[in-house]
Amino acid sequence: MSRSVLVTGGNRGIGLAIARAFAAEGDKVAVTSRSGEAPEGLFGVKCDITDPEQVEQAFKEVEAHQGNVEVLIANAGITKDTLLLRMSEDDFTEVVDTNLTGTFRVVKRASKGMLRARKGRIVLISSVVGLLGSAGQANYAASKAGLVGFARSLARELGSRNITTNVVAPGFVDTAMTEVLGEDRKAEILAQVPLGRYASTEEVAGVVRFLASDAASYITGAVIPVDGGLGMGH
Ligand code: NDP
Repeated sequence: MSRSVLVTGGNRGIGLAIARAFAAEGDKVAVTSRSGEAPEGLFGVKCDITDPEQVEQAFKEVEAHQGNVEVLIANAGITKDTLLLRMSEDDFTEVVDTNLTGTFRVVKRASKGMLRARKGRIVLISSVVGLLGSAGQANYAASKAGLVGFARSLARELGSRNITTNVVAPGFVDTAMTEVLGEDRKAEILAQVPLGRYASTEEVAGVVRFLASDAASYITGAVIPVDGGLGMGH
């Protein structure tokens, strides 16, 4: 059965792999990006998730194109890494406003249609560092840890309406976000990953798709690591 799927930040990186995975199953997939440009074969809408009006407008366009969103993947996110004493108020609030408050904005909007339909799947893309912590990423880790409390609250609030809310916590994935890390830092990270390599974007997408599938109908409030063992025990 073809569902209406929305992936924020689905124009590149992990989000694009997620969007392609759903499209390959025959779902109707819309992606958001700040430019509004869509990758070939996908429906794209412009949406900066830090702007509530753009979020509302994007949902209206998606609903007109493919109906109410039945599966929401909140994937858009940024980093602004620096050590605490150098971290400005803006460095902190911009990351939280995008990764955590931005997710709140899209989830809240998507939940309206899901509540009416009495079904829905919500998957939030967090990170291994949300639970493990990471020097130089206090802003990012705080925003990603916040997603866990947010998701678990929604699991309780929306569960009776047949809406599941889960979190995927990737480790290091080969995308533009990790490209900027120096060779020394990359080697340091890989030394701590039992599988000894980065994840591909498809490896994250496969788990997201599972959580939105019938096979995962009794999973809600879960935090699923896709981190090659990096965060074990956290
Ligand atoms: P990329 O930097 O490749 O892509 C980020 C995506 O987020 C882009 O589509 C970007 O859109 C979108 N985005 C950023 N800010 C906004 C905003 N204000 N409004 C709307 N969209 C926005 O990152 P990845 O694919 O690597 O990361 C995707 C998610 O996975 C993020 O949440 C990230 O934190 C998380 N993650 C990534 C890991 C990794 O190792 N790469 C590890 C763990 C988690 P645009 O093209 O318009 O800029």
